[in-house]
Amino acid sequence: MLLVTEAGLGDGETAIFPIQIFRVKEGVNFNPGEPNYDLFKLACRVSAKRLFPNFSFQDAPFNLKYYKEGHPETEIAYMGCRTRVMANVHDPEKEITPGRGNLSFTSINLPRIAIMANKNIDWFFNELDHKTDLVVEQLLERFEIQAKKKVHNYPFLMGEGIWIDSDKLGCNDEVREVLKNGTLSVGFIGLAEALKALIGVHHGESEVAQNLGLDIISHMRNRLDALSQKTKLNFTLLATPAEGLSGRFVEIDRKRFGSIEGVTDREYYTNSFHIPVYYPISAYKKIQLEAPYHALTNAGHITYVELDGDPSTNLDAFEKIIRYMKAQGIGYGSINHPVDRDPICGYNGIIGDTCPKCGRKEDEGEVGFQRIRRITGYLVGTLDRFNNAKRAEVRDRVKHSVVTEVKLTPKED
Ligand SMILES: [Zn+2]
Repeated sequence: MLLVTEAGLGDGETAIFPIQIFRVKEGVNFNPGEPNYDLFKLACRVSAKRLFPNFSFQDAPFNLKYYKEGHPETEIAYMGCRTRVMANVHDPEKEITPGRGNLSFTSINLPRIAIMANKNIDWFFNELDHKTDLVVEQLLERFEIQAKKKVHNYPFLMGEGIWIDSDKLGCNDEVREVLKNGTLSVGFIGLAEALKALIGVHHGESEVAQNLGLDIISHMRNRLDALSQKTKLNFTLLATPAEGLSGRFVEIDRKRFGSIEGVTDREYYTNSFHIPVYYPISAYKKIQLEAPYHALTNAGHITYVELDGDPSTNLDAFEKIIRYMKAQGIGYGSINHPVDRDPICGYNGIIGDTCPKCGRKEDEGEVGFQRIRRITGYLVGTLDRFNNAKRAEVRDRVKHSVVTEVKLTPKED
């Protein structure tokens, strides 16, 4: 699989599907001498050329706690874009990956609550609780609609026994008990802009902001955990992928509150708990600051690092970043780097203004160069079908340096 991904399609094109995730596990593939260490090295080599595979980390404490050796169903399996299903308050005997899924999720606009808080942190937390409760009510209403359906309404998922215990039901039975194994998720967007609005700095800029950010996300998680215990339904917290949302929310908020520096003055809100894409920061520090949010977002998360140049010429640096992700407790991550292709001559690599192979410029010839980029977990060969907000976000992405190791105490600016 890795070798054909590395080879590419017929003319050497990078395949944008299927998404591949390499699960890193100590004792299996992480250290020299382990049985599949060669596959880990190969995964790094292929990802440095083709952007896939992404990497998930079985040893992150929040993934390891469910792992039982010899029981592959207890291994973490992220969906390509990031979603994750594992804990199970409905049936603690079945804290497994297969046979379940996310039933629905709704995201909260953190920057809007922060703007309306007018720098009053207590008001912010209070309003956040109100909004969370509102979302929970909505999720429960949706659950009720799904749960009232019969097995014959889901001929594949239930009729074929895909979901846990659905094989024990008749075709006219209600699916409620089976669906209780699924998750109902509350998501969020724009932690960085919310922090800017509340205290004037985001979590990449200040340790105070990082601590407040962790307080906010912990607060949401605790509320959902308590609710799960109370209702015996799996309410989980999602670091929302925000494909359409990132532009939509900021547009509404800019109309309502005007252009606020660092908050509503860009075309997009920053994805979930990410450090803003435009903020210069080293790869190591970004990983270090984002990792603690992975432990809190039990419905899914991802951390990206943007590299300049061609990492396949420096595989040691590539592997070092992956190893650092694991060391810091990242659950799921991947490294972005430029992958360009000239469809006319077939050159694959980094193309500036001129193709290094045939020497043509972008506007010479009938088609331009393909520039593969990753948006919300997926690879795309063109940004044309994406909304302006996501295109602006891709444009603003700065590369993360890997030259200097991060100090363990974040430096205050
Ligand atoms: Zn060319």
